[in-house]
Amino acid sequence: MEQHLEVIVDVEVVDKRETGGVSTNMEVFGLKKILERIVGQIMVSEIVTDASAAVIALVRKMKDKYPDDFSHLFHALDIWHKSVKLTKKLAKAAKVKGCETVSQWSEPIRNHFWFVCQNSNGDEEKLKDDWFGVLHHIAGEHEWIDGECQHGPLVASETEKTYLDKNSKAMEAVRKVILDQRFVKSLYHY
Ligand SMILES: [Zn+2]
Repeated sequence: MEQHLEVIVDVEVVDKRETGGVSTNMEVFGLKKILERIVGQIMVSEIVTDASAAVIALVRKMKDKYPDDFSHLFHALDIWHKSVKLTKKLAKAAKVKGCETVSQWSEPIRNHFWFVCQNSNGDEEKLKDDWFGVLHHIAGEHEWIDGECQHGPLVASETEKTYLDKNSKAMEAVRKVILDQRFVKSLYHY
């Protein structure tokens, strides 16, 4: 579907039997067919998909195979899909004894992810810097050596949250999620 005109450009219906009964392969199979049909027909500048490793690999392969059509194609990943995964990871982290306070920060961190994606205007470095900034915020630090939070004065409901001690187990757990290598590496897709 073309997002701005809201026009459905193409549809591919995949039967599970076409992918050897493996339903997780259906998305890749369908997308491959559509991209191959598009070759030589329309110029696509950006596509948005789920953040699946197999889909990312397929788009990369298609860009190599059809450079005339896809070399400038920007592969964007769906923010919603990623933010759901993020919430799941934080919920899991909050279940560990001593890390219960993480649950208070799950929603603000998810909101922060949306904010930094929308605010980066395709600037990967800015996106990363802003993303890491949340680690200061949850420790109650809104200004630091090379940056500051972009929120205005905090309202009561925000100041009621328990800030995390920088050396706490909870902080270490959040740090692991925020700085996760795979997560950070995929940020340029947002
Ligand atoms: Zn802050």
